[in-house]
Amino acid sequence: MYAVVTEQALVVIEDDSNIADLLDTYLRTAGFRVLLAPTGARGLELIDQHAPVLAILDIGLPDIDGFDVCRQIRSKSTMPVLFLTARDGEIDRILGLELGADDYVTKPFSPREVVARVKAILRRGQIAPADDATVLAVGDDYEVDLGRREVRVKGSVVGLATREFDLLAFLTRNQGIAMSRQQMLDGVWGVDWYGDDRTVDVHVRQLRKKLGDDLPLATVWGVGYRLG
Ligand code: CA
Repeated sequence: MYAVVTEQALVVIEDDSNIADLLDTYLRTAGFRVLLAPTGARGLELIDQHAPVLAILDIGLPDIDGFDVCRQIRSKSTMPVLFLTARDGEIDRILGLELGADDYVTKPFSPREVVARVKAILRRGQIAPADDATVLAVGDDYEVDLGRREVRVKGSVVGLATREFDLLAFLTRNQGIAMSRQQMLDGVWGVDWYGDDRTVDVHVRQLRKKLGDDLPLATVWGVGYRLG
């Protein structure tokens, strides 16, 4: 008897064919179906056609740059995006995060590391356990639906990137407690993630921007943040 394996499709949007082939090999070995796109336009097309579970996205592409591709993905989907960046600047990284990227790796990278990151992102996005199928109220106007991974403001759904939702869910589960940036990094990004405090600040800023001024998300000086 063979086990029934449902392959998850990933799209790799990368114009450097050596890198694309390398990722293709490693990701296939890890059990994924890989869709390769040498341009941003082709990547978006493949996303529309195949609804892959995750996009690996180069920034320097021949047609549309990776940030624009990410914006276009975000305008219609919350699928996780892992950036590949050759630029060694904090600005690019933070820009990537503000766009709702879920993680990034800097070139040159080890393909094993990329596979590990992809698996970690997909694990985080997995269907919540039963006791997570809960709707929690935040203030009077906000509902965080952990089961549906949805936030509603006065009943209307507001779209958040994967990490933004994860951060909001983490703070919601810890309502009324001041959380340090390190606790937030460990709880949301995982202890093996090597981002810094600014990652948290960028995501908090995004939550405030998207969810409005009534969100009771306070800065606790010298500590971090507190929801409710
Ligand atoms: Ca490139």
